[in-house]
Amino acid sequence: MTVVLIGPGGVGKGTLARRLVASDPDLVLSRSWTTRTPRPGETEADYHFVSRDEFERAIHAGVFYEWAEFQGHLYGTPRPDPSDDRDLLLEIDVQGAEQIRAQDPSALVILVVAPSTEALERRLRGRGDDEDHVRRRLESAAEEMERGRRLGAIEVVNDDLERAGARILSILEGRRH
Ligand code: ADP
Ligand code: 5GP
Repeated sequence: MTVVLIGPGGVGKGTLARRLVASDPDLVLSRSWTTRTPRPGETEADYHFVSRDEFERAIHAGVFYEWAEFQGHLYGTPRPDPSDDRDLLLEIDVQGAEQIRAQDPSALVILVVAPSTEALERRLRGRGDDEDHVRRRLESAAEEMERGRRLGAIEVVNDDLERAGARILSILEGRRH
């Protein structure tokens, strides 16, 4: 099964994704490729950081399951290893989720939302995003949520990490059985 986490930047998708795979051995997190530069503290474990040239060559070589341009940078999910029978967790933007749904209508799509716009803003600043990033991510938040809802995504409020993580695991368990 493919599980897709979507939601506005800074809502906590990455943090939740890391917790989910740490607590569920049957779930594996896909590592995306991106042309953006690493944030302080990010490493090759977070993304495969590549040049635009390298990314475009990979598109033509058929490397990606889905890819999209998000705020001036390219992001893509490499095709999963077909011999791995664990469930695959993707933490991607809504354009990517639309592509996954088109290829796999049974994919489970979860829309993570913040308890409030103020909380979202605090999380973006707390993570060290610059003002320009914060403004652009807040501007695109409403559209991300709207498109997520149109995809029929299941909504989970990330108020408390523990609670939101448990909620997602229980949705996942429900799907498995
Ligand atoms: P995303 O992957 O959606 O862009 P991150 O996982 O990077 O978001 O989270 C953005 C910031 O918000 C991080 O600093 C993270 O520690 C913080 N955060 C995530 N979830 C919560 C939460 N439930 N309560 C408070 N802060 C949170
Ligand atoms: P960030 O730059 O904050 O890490 O990510 C920006 C946006 O790109 C987030 O919404 C994130 O979920 C999304 N993203 C990360 N990896 C991928 C990917 O492989 N494909 C797509 N479509 N979006 C991605």
